[in-house]
Amino acid sequence: MTKMIGHFIDGQQQAGISGRLSAVFDPATGSETTAVALASEAEVRAAVEAAKAAHPRWAATTPLRRARILNRFLGILEQRAGELAAAITAEHGKVLSDARGEIQRGIEVVEFAIAAPELLKGDFSENVGTGVDSHSLRQPLGVVAGITPFNFPVMVPMWMFPVALACGNAFILKPSERCPSAPMLIAEWLAEAGVPKGIFQVINGDKVAVDALLHDRDVAAVSFVGSTPVARYIYETATKNGKRCQALGGAKNHMVIMPDADLDLAADALMGAAYGSAGERCMAISIALPIGKATADALVGKLTERAQKLVIGAGTDKASDMGPLVSKPHLERVRGYVDHGLSEGATLVLDGRGFVSPGREDGYFIGATLFDNVTPEMRIYREEIFGPVLGIVRIDDFDSAVRLINEHEFGNGAAIFTRDGHSAREFTTRIQAGMVGVNVPIPVPMAFHSFGGWKASLFGDHHMHGSEGVRFYTRLKTVTSRWPTGIRAGADFIMPTME
Ligand code: NAD
Repeated sequence: MTKMIGHFIDGQQQAGISGRLSAVFDPATGSETTAVALASEAEVRAAVEAAKAAHPRWAATTPLRRARILNRFLGILEQRAGELAAAITAEHGKVLSDARGEIQRGIEVVEFAIAAPELLKGDFSENVGTGVDSHSLRQPLGVVAGITPFNFPVMVPMWMFPVALACGNAFILKPSERCPSAPMLIAEWLAEAGVPKGIFQVINGDKVAVDALLHDRDVAAVSFVGSTPVARYIYETATKNGKRCQALGGAKNHMVIMPDADLDLAADALMGAAYGSAGERCMAISIALPIGKATADALVGKLTERAQKLVIGAGTDKASDMGPLVSKPHLERVRGYVDHGLSEGATLVLDGRGFVSPGREDGYFIGATLFDNVTPEMRIYREEIFGPVLGIVRIDDFDSAVRLINEHEFGNGAAIFTRDGHSAREFTTRIQAGMVGVNVPIPVPMAFHSFGGWKASLFGDHHMHGSEGVRFYTRLKTVTSRWPTGIRAGADFIMPTME
């Protein structure tokens, strides 16, 4: 029987009442496993009301107590990570070890957020004027919402809610309708850890739920991660409605391979960065820029050899390096990009379109695909494919590579492989991307730094987690105080100055 998933509102699971459902599939087999409810505006409103009612008490709970609750949640997460990873793999398709990896990256944000008493420590200045002191403090925003993509059903929500909760906000998560199970487990475990009802809720749904959140007067801020057209829409709508917003979008991440690089190291790095999680990572490397013909020829040889050995299969199979894509429409889209690449004149070195996983003929599999001689006008260069398709753009020199990357619409991540410190330093200084790797292909910042791209990869002013996350989920207040001494100076009508 198909599993049914509703919402998690006001401390408990609730069946959807909108009458609208969306099917969830096991990408490895193509079979429908679950039906997830799509919320109506009224259901979103009910969650906002519950959050609004619960928020004052949570905001008044000491940061230390909030941190203790998150610490209990951390314990549950560590104990039951296997269950969570299985839920991710069943709906996303990624291999279990990769699912464990994304949970680990999420756990690190919880560990960061447990430092709430330290993170929320304000500034104090004694004697800003004679007998006058000043202190700054950070207070929660109130009810905040997070809208997240399919590709990291645990990690991306965890970029947001641990920090939001630690800072004293009530959080409403609208996860991807393609992977709803893991977020529901998280809601249960947060409640078990002691998060009061109404403080963490999950509303499953589509554009209807998202629009309801974007237009709700009681939602103070919206965090979004997903594709660029939706990110732009979310940012424009949320800010027009007076909300604080951070909206992270798509990507096309480049890796420059200098002639002096260790090419085996670079080829190994590219395998994981291009084909890990079937390329469905916003920090995946989808374009390699080898400098000079000799570097390019050698790199293509090494990549071809390695990619042919990739084991592709169900995410639950321990031998698999790479699982299927998330859905049938997405598989068709990625295949379509390979068709485009061919018709645009790129050289198809490895073609994954015909790949079939024996016994799983209806699964959404595609093999590792490699294009050589990609050029900047091609769609496969300009657009995000979000599949296991790596393009090689042959380029003559370092400066041309930097120029090309900086001209691209997206600016999420970029990497350079080199043994030369000067090239690396020039690259990190000049490159227009939010996250840069030096001999590190996927430079996802740790939880105590912040995650975010530039250009069309992020709309808004704040990156996620780390100090940027604390700033996003709090408002600054500065208090200036004087304690009366009994001496009255009388009324003063000039702009106050302190001496
Ligand atoms: P998506 O944009 O289709 O969906 C993201 C969320 O927005 C989902 O919750 C979805 O229900 C909702 N949504 C979709 N269409 C909407 C609409 N028209 N109006 C309102 N809400 C809508 O993205 P996806 O396919 O789930 O995820 C893949 C994308 O996410 C890729 O582009 C990837 O690069 C991006 N991504 C970016 C980052 C980053 O940090 N920059 C991280 C992960 C994923």
